[in-house]
Amino acid sequence: MVRVGVIGAGISGLVCAFLLRQKGVEVVVFEKDETAGGNIQTLKLEGYTIELGPNSLLKSLRLVELVNLLGLRSQILPAEHTARKRYILSGGKLEAVGLKSFVNGYFSPKALFQIFREPFVRSKSPENESVAEFFERRFGDEFVDKLVDPFISGIYAGNPHSLSIRAAFPSIYEMEQNFGSLIVGAFRQSRNKSNLKILKDFPRTFSFQGGLKTLIEALVSRLDDSMRFSSPVFAIERTKSGKFSVNGEEFDSVIISTPAFVAADLIESLDEDLARRLRSVEYPPVAVVVFGLKTEKIKKKLDGFGFLIPSKENRSILGTLFVSTVFPERAPKGYELLTTFVGGVRRGYELCGVSDENLKQLVERELAEILEINGEPDLCYIKRWEKAIPQYQIGYEKITESIARFEREHRGIFFCSNFYRGISVSSCVESAFETVESLLG
Ligand SMILES: Cc1cc2nc3c(=O)[nH]c(=O)nc-3n(C[C@H](O)[C@H](O)[C@H](O)COP(=O)(O)OP(=O)(O)OC[C@H]3O[C@@H](n4cnc5c(N)ncnc54)[C@H](O)[C@@H]3O)c2cc1C
Repeated sequence: MVRVGVIGAGISGLVCAFLLRQKGVEVVVFEKDETAGGNIQTLKLEGYTIELGPNSLLKSLRLVELVNLLGLRSQILPAEHTARKRYILSGGKLEAVGLKSFVNGYFSPKALFQIFREPFVRSKSPENESVAEFFERRFGDEFVDKLVDPFISGIYAGNPHSLSIRAAFPSIYEMEQNFGSLIVGAFRQSRNKSNLKILKDFPRTFSFQGGLKTLIEALVSRLDDSMRFSSPVFAIERTKSGKFSVNGEEFDSVIISTPAFVAADLIESLDEDLARRLRSVEYPPVAVVVFGLKTEKIKKKLDGFGFLIPSKENRSILGTLFVSTVFPERAPKGYELLTTFVGGVRRGYELCGVSDENLKQLVERELAEILEINGEPDLCYIKRWEKAIPQYQIGYEKITESIARFEREHRGIFFCSNFYRGISVSSCVESAFETVESLLG
């Protein structure tokens, strides 16, 4: 019988372990912390349900399949309809972005001309193109400054000028390769996808009753005696019989589901070059500043998902989620829950020297102005991610290609983590399905 060791109990490692158990494979999961979830952490405090990492998920085929396998369908919490509205700060004012942005003066006439001529732009992405260069080539620079830049902050806490289009957004890159236009490609793909039965009747954006920890707890409960908490792994060793030894236990295969800088230590004795590449992956710091406030203290209507801020606005925060608008059960009645992100590639390294009190005041000042808030928050909770999200920078393919080569050369060791096949929770779940399929080959 095959025995597999999984290192790291974030969503990537847990889903791998769960799928393997389902196939009757014996699994052991090593986690350095006392709890599972990694970036997914839900906290219950004074009647609020607070997410310290991801707040919501986007549906994808494999994620829906996982929810069904875990029997969690009845615990799905769909985002409220109002959450479809998203704001961007422009000239200090919140502007709703969407189709209306093309007629309400958000974009200049020159930018509109560049946007609408996109289907006729014939060029294709050269090697090593950044996200900013890609969208500038297709839609013009104003589109990048006013739309792409803030969305990159919202997804990667990153910089569109240093992220690689091919590595960070492979499906958008492929769309240009296949259809020659993103507008045409998006239209064709949406027609195909909407026909998939499994995705029908499933909310596009969702969480679970009780927060995302419900998903983690469901996975852990299926893995019970497979879990080894407070068990950091420092190396993977080869045994004489050609198997692998992890913390004194022997395995036929090992799945590495830790962050890249930890994975580097794990494989260093096997491949120094890959270890060096893995250590070079940038993970900027991000602070998550959560405020709970009486609704009456906020003058602006919180009728949307939240707002993002373009770099050109020169603000100290990246954006804020209107959590209790998206999921009203997240705050007690008469109160709102706001989650603000600070740092990232833009200003993350400045955060280290800022005290929690100063961080709170900084967010208070920004929100007082943008959302017209009067008075102090009734609750404040701060979570600092010293190494938050891996940046798929220009040339990142060299890292992913080296990982793939390593997997071929060291049969039995697999990588499944957010630095390999996408950073979103949906991508981690897709990657876990793919890893288990290759492992069971
Ligand atoms: C602030 C923030 C907001 C986000 N928002 C969203 C969002 O809204 N939507 C979305 O889809 N995604 C979001 N993401 C991204 C997403 O949450 C992550 O990419 C994903 O959860 C990563 O999962 P993972 O299992 O690959 O890695 P991780 O969650 O990093 O898990 C790695 C695990 O390995 C363990 N580990 C580390 N070292 C060792 C060791 N030596 N031995 C054993 N175990 C070890 C860690 O303790 C951890 O449990 C967000 C991320 C952050 C930080």
